[in-house]
Amino acid sequence: MAKCVYFFGNGKAEGSSPMRNLLGGKGCDLAEMTNLGIPVPPGFTITTEACVEYFKRKNRSPDGLWDEVLGHLQRLESTLNLRLGDRERSLLVSVRSGARVSMPGMMDTVLNLGLNDQTVIGLARRTKNDRFAWDCYRRFIAMFGDVVLGLERSAFERLLDETKAGAGVQTDPEVPAEALMDLVARYKGIVQEKTGRAFPQDPLEQLRLAVDAVFNSWNNPRAAAYRRIHGIPHDWGTAVTVMAMVFGNLGENSGTGVVFTRDPATGERRFFGEFLVNAQGEDVVAGIRTPEPITALKARAPQVYDELIAIKDRLERHYRDMQDIEFTVQEGTLYLLQTRSGKRAAGAAVRIAVEMMREGLIDKDTALLRVEPGRLNELLHPIFDSTDKARAIAKGGLLAKGLPAAPGAAAGRVVFDADRAVEWAKGGQKVILVRPETSPEDVAGMHAAQGILASRGGRTSHAAVVAVGMGKCCIVGAGDVFVDEERRAFQAGRTIVREGDIISLDGTSGEVFLGAIELIEPSISGELQVLLKWGDERRTLGVRANADTPDDAMKARQYGAEGIGLVRTEHMFFQAERIPIVREMIMAKDTLARRKAAERLLPFQREDFIGIFRAMDGLPVTVRLLDPPLHEFLPRYTDLLEEHTRLDALRINPGRLKELEEIMVNVRALQEFNPMLGHRGCRLGITFPEIYDMQVRAIMEAACAVTREGVRVEPEIMIPLTGTVGEMKLTYEMTKAVADAVLAETGMTVKYLIGTMIEVPRAALVADQIAQQAEFFSFGTNDLTQMTFGYSRDDIGKFLPHYLEHEILPVDPFVILDQEGVGELVRIGIERGRKTRPGMKIGICGEHGGEPASVEFCHRVGMTYVSSSPFMIPISRLAAAHARIKEERAREVTNA
Ligand code: ADP
Ligand code: MG
Ligand code: MG
Repeated sequence: MAKCVYFFGNGKAEGSSPMRNLLGGKGCDLAEMTNLGIPVPPGFTITTEACVEYFKRKNRSPDGLWDEVLGHLQRLESTLNLRLGDRERSLLVSVRSGARVSMPGMMDTVLNLGLNDQTVIGLARRTKNDRFAWDCYRRFIAMFGDVVLGLERSAFERLLDETKAGAGVQTDPEVPAEALMDLVARYKGIVQEKTGRAFPQDPLEQLRLAVDAVFNSWNNPRAAAYRRIHGIPHDWGTAVTVMAMVFGNLGENSGTGVVFTRDPATGERRFFGEFLVNAQGEDVVAGIRTPEPITALKARAPQVYDELIAIKDRLERHYRDMQDIEFTVQEGTLYLLQTRSGKRAAGAAVRIAVEMMREGLIDKDTALLRVEPGRLNELLHPIFDSTDKARAIAKGGLLAKGLPAAPGAAAGRVVFDADRAVEWAKGGQKVILVRPETSPEDVAGMHAAQGILASRGGRTSHAAVVAVGMGKCCIVGAGDVFVDEERRAFQAGRTIVREGDIISLDGTSGEVFLGAIELIEPSISGELQVLLKWGDERRTLGVRANADTPDDAMKARQYGAEGIGLVRTEHMFFQAERIPIVREMIMAKDTLARRKAAERLLPFQREDFIGIFRAMDGLPVTVRLLDPPLHEFLPRYTDLLEEHTRLDALRINPGRLKELEEIMVNVRALQEFNPMLGHRGCRLGITFPEIYDMQVRAIMEAACAVTREGVRVEPEIMIPLTGTVGEMKLTYEMTKAVADAVLAETGMTVKYLIGTMIEVPRAALVADQIAQQAEFFSFGTNDLTQMTFGYSRDDIGKFLPHYLEHEILPVDPFVILDQEGVGELVRIGIERGRKTRPGMKIGICGEHGGEPASVEFCHRVGMTYVSSSPFMIPISRLAAAHARIKEERAREVTNA
């Protein structure tokens, strides 16, 4: 087997940051910091490959690994002139997990390893600090018990609480040495009782067990859930870093903390962080205690503070990204224990990217790639209406104020545990997860919830960091909130809030409100506009919007749409005053009656188009002719039957009764076994030509009317659901005849195009023939997915969840375009279409046009544009820029 262990210490390391996949993020960056001359306690890292091998061998260490570890251990011992297990000069180490990508708090770490009944006495003697030595020992037993021996952490915590109560103190550092000795004895009692064995005293055995346990923590349920949520592969494994302990719990001039080089919630360039005096690292990151702001360190130890500032600046410049840094101060000496690129809220990601580009740290392409397009969603979510919020405050609805850990607005029903959050959310409820402390254990519940509220913990705790990464609104350290988990209620001031009650969280201000506060649409920040502009300069793929009303069209334009890719005309048919006329048209006994009704609809349709054309002045607008099955416009048969039965029983209103009977006959006649595959789309337009004639006339009359006003318009008339050349030919001719007639009547010239949706698989296959008439294509990937898979989108709820759970399908194909199946049809359609009509305009108007991976696909296959709903436009714009940049970078790599 290849080298499994890499050393770092004394200013030199075998690893470095590019070795992330092998050494994990933590391991490679500890090596990198060591090489930079930053003070890091020495140690060594066991590779992720060794971990993968360990799993392959059914949880047995690869051959030779242990010998390699022992060799590096000796090197570490001689570096420090300490020895693991030595009675007087014993080395203590931490055994730390660390995957390729950071998964804050999801895996396990053991601190203070090497302590036993003997070494604890030596440690006390050497440091002349009994309290400290026994504090380390009690921490070690509890952590080892939890992580390695699989005991409940709460059992240890309960005893610690009892000890504090017995000693009459509030906080951990106040517990005196004697009480800690007593606590250690009781901890060992728990181990003996629960495992049937004494606490392991041999430090090498401790080490071996701890390394295995850290390997295994890759597969603990919360780590697995985190990987699922964030799409991280399950087969990467974790590295394990063993390093010398440094102690923040050595007294008042020691401590530990976490700092960020920029604010992870807002992106503001300011030194931000938290610190705990006389404590070990886990106290901060585990969210058990609420720490002090980092400025507290400045007052206590100005030199250390300055040194920390210099190092964090250096790290940010070195990595050219915002850093999340763990440090410990041992009796006035600073040590760095971790640095990684920090998780950040979506808005912060945008701000940091733009500002770093302006500071000259990164170029525009890097700035663009720093923001994941999908995360813009979080910025386009509603925020609280400030007047409604003010009203809630005036009414006394402000329950508490905590630390604003992750921005956003959320309202929902209170739940007190992660399982219930998941369960209620599955049932369609919006929930807020309320906990006494923040904990990585809650990852699945956090994901299911709209927001998270914790009464303890700081903004740099793992759970807060995880919430930021998920884009979940989160408030921590809300000291006025008293959570009673057993009673399933919390108290804030005089108010008691029970499970199921509704509260609102403002993650930007840290405020907690009783009841639901009204939400309003967000606006696009200045930095986001700048970033999107940079993206526009890079992308070659066009971005249009799906919009059915002038309002939507305006919104789409504001968000940067370069046209409308889909106007669904049927939405115009659903309005209350139009529906009776629509019904008349559908149920008409003959052509004449149908034409009469259609003519009455014409002015409405014309007005709709005039509004949209005006809003889109100068930009292309694609209008799709009527698509859905006719029965969608009719009253429900059961409603009719009910009314009929009632009138009949009461023997009243015989006129209406007769009318109802007629309607019922009609409705029944129009009923289909499978409407999605039935009489719809161009099939309808061909059999009832009066409908399309009216629509084409309305489009062209509107175009002429606005042209007269000076508006520039170029309508693209789109035929839905074409599957055969015959359909295309006929509808093309019908459309052209009406359109040209309108132009002849008005004596105007308006350029227009006639094209088709490609949404029936057959159409993609015969695209070369269809393109003989069709002047443009637009892939309707909703229907195309439906018909390619043979899944009815309305019925997938019955089997899709099962398919996803059992990985029969990797993702929902209605959300993320299935590139190898449906995408292949798209590719074929484009290729064959352009063979007939080179350079033909081709777009996509399914929901996929706003999904980043699908947008990248559309770029690769050479589409002209994607079209998505107005709110998705920024996502599509950024995703299109990513697609171009990635394509160029890939080309550079292959050319190099
Ligand atoms: P996590 O991934 O959960 O943050 P870490 O391995 O980073 O796990 O360790 C948890 C806490 O223990 C961190 O605050 C870290 O700084 C601290 N810690 C880890 N190793 C040491 C060490 N050798 N000396 C002092 N503190 C340590
Ligand atoms: Mg850490
Ligand atoms: Mg369709």
